Amino acid sequence: MFPVWITETPLLDKDGKWIGSIEISADITERRRGERALRESEAKFRTLAEAMPQIVWMAQPDGSKTYFNQRWLDYTGLSLEESLGPGWLNAIHPDDRQSTMEAWSMAVDTGRVLERETRLRKADGSFHWMLVRALRLYDSAGNIVSWLGTCTDIEVLKQAETALQRAREAAEAASQAKSDFLANISHELRTPMNGIIGFTELALATELTGELREYLGIVKSSSDHLLSLLNDILDFSKTQANELRFETLTFRLRETIDKALQPFALEAGRKKVTFAWEVMPDVPDELTGDPTRLRQILVNLVANAIKFTEQGGVAVRVEVLHKREADVILHFSVRDTGIGIPTEKQGIVFEPFTQADTSTTRKYGGTGLGLTIAARLVKMMGGRLRLESTEGAGSKFDFNLGFSCQPAAPALPERRCADGPILAAAGQRTWRILLAEDNIVNQRVVARLLEKQGYTVEVASTGRDALALLSQQAFDLVLMDIQMPDIDGFQATAAIRERERTSGKHLPILALTAHAMAGDRERCIKAGMDDYISKPIQPSDLWGAVECLLAHFAHRSSQS
Ligand code: MN
Repeated sequence: MFPVWITETPLLDKDGKWIGSIEISADITERRRGERALRESEAKFRTLAEAMPQIVWMAQPDGSKTYFNQRWLDYTGLSLEESLGPGWLNAIHPDDRQSTMEAWSMAVDTGRVLERETRLRKADGSFHWMLVRALRLYDSAGNIVSWLGTCTDIEVLKQAETALQRAREAAEAASQAKSDFLANISHELRTPMNGIIGFTELALATELTGELREYLGIVKSSSDHLLSLLNDILDFSKTQANELRFETLTFRLRETIDKALQPFALEAGRKKVTFAWEVMPDVPDELTGDPTRLRQILVNLVANAIKFTEQGGVAVRVEVLHKREADVILHFSVRDTGIGIPTEKQGIVFEPFTQADTSTTRKYGGTGLGLTIAARLVKMMGGRLRLESTEGAGSKFDFNLGFSCQPAAPALPERRCADGPILAAAGQRTWRILLAEDNIVNQRVVARLLEKQGYTVEVASTGRDALALLSQQAFDLVLMDIQMPDIDGFQATAAIRERERTSGKHLPILALTAHAMAGDRERCIKAGMDDYISKPIQPSDLWGAVECLLAHFAHRSSQS
């Protein structure tokens, strides 16, 4: 037995008389089976749709909704009648309605998968974030017959994401605040150092009893030490904040290294340890790179090596690792026969504020930042600072850095000094210097230091005052503070250079910068200044720079 479909068609003659019939019977087993399968699959779909933790809905190809599962009705509190048609939009957050409508129309128009996050109102009036997805379903001919959509509650995920984002922002802000604080505080602390170092130096230059001289000598060396600690913290905070700028200058390697390491010979001699440095003969001398930062790396490593070495010695060596055409990679090493660093501590010595042994803090002093700064500078210059050490036998720090052997173009003008005292060369004339500086202590210390050397000094407290004085009186040189209220050093310099465009004169300007930053010199020179010195001012630096500029420009103006 099987189900059949019977069709009976009457047969008529030409007068319309019934003459018989054609009976066709067809086996419809397959069709029945298909209908049952469809009903079963629909029932399965409904069961699945109702059992799922998600909201499930269906829509016609034109976008109108045809079905919502019970979960939608429970979730939104809407009835099926309220949800069909455009009613479902009432459950979408008012701010998301427009964009949801647009996204849905776009999906319907293009037939693309819809996937978006939107806020859905729950029956209790609260809104939850939902991930909405919709796929199109095709018939065997490839036509879209319907859309199948789901909504998944991602509120918890969304909250976690927001909390994570907030935590990350807070951590970043805290880290930035710490770096800013360190940079600001070390900068601010350097300002009074100007007065302490300057006036101690001035006092030491007067007639003093032996006892007073000894005390002031201690004040001087202590303040120099304090300054070097402050500089460490400032440099560290700048490497932390990625604020360091690197210069590209052409420099003489041997001269740079000699100048950097010479001062340590004295300290090594006092401790009776040997100290030697050697640049191998095949190392090219004229290099292009940042000599200031290279010096800083070597100074930090050598200071550290001498500090921790009680007997034996410290040796610095520079050799060629690799040379190709105009580029050279140099290998730098600093070896000592000091206390060494235990294996388990070797990983942390480059971390900030740590020393291999916390008790060494008391014995050897220091901020513990020297190695961190050196390691970061090497890294920022493209190398890696390595350490080999045996406890009790010494340490070796080494790194490779690449330099160009081609001169940097354009090279910045170098400070050129005339030999001999220029005051004598100028005969009886007294040089007149204008000091533009807003800080009263700095005004006094710089003016006194210059007067000591026989210069005449006029003081202006703002850039505006300085410009006014310059238009009334003649000066041979200007000492220009960068940070001043009203008109700052850069603006005042620009105004002076603008005035000179018609006169063809050039008044030498020496910048006084508060930040000792690489790039400062470049920035000052670009702004029209001739040179700069950084605060706190070391008297010999000040005198040297002033004399150099006067000699250079006096020489030039006598030629013209
Ligand atoms: Mn200032």
